[in-house]
Amino acid sequence: MFEDSKSFYKLMEKIMNKKDLSSLKRILIQKETELLNKTDNTSRDVDISSNENVGDEVDVASQNIEKEIYFELAANDKITLSAINDALTKIEKGTYGCCECCNDAIQIKRLTAIPWTRYCIKCQEEAENQKR
Ligand SMILES: [Zn+2]
Repeated sequence: MFEDSKSFYKLMEKIMNKKDLSSLKRILIQKETELLNKTDNTSRDVDISSNENVGDEVDVASQNIEKEIYFELAANDKITLSAINDALTKIEKGTYGCCECCNDAIQIKRLTAIPWTRYCIKCQEEAENQKR
């Protein structure tokens, strides 16, 4: 399962230490929860209070709620959420911290500011320049 973990940490150590990585991971999970709770507190409460006798339908209902949470998120939050998911996957795979565009290491400063960023500052700036 963790065959690649040695080479992974070798690569990661160039950018950050294990402590940095685990604190970044914690921030990612925190942010993910925060985004999911955004809709949680608004629409879900209304749904549940208006339908108290759910009984056997609970499982189905909770599945639907998950879909709805995602659906009700603002577009920006969806983008952030999927970037967070990708970042967490990348941590598992050991490819976290690499720019998706040039495959270079993303600066630790940048990762600390936006842990779910996909690109290094150079590629991000180039992309933004192209938009103008
Ligand atoms: Zn890059």
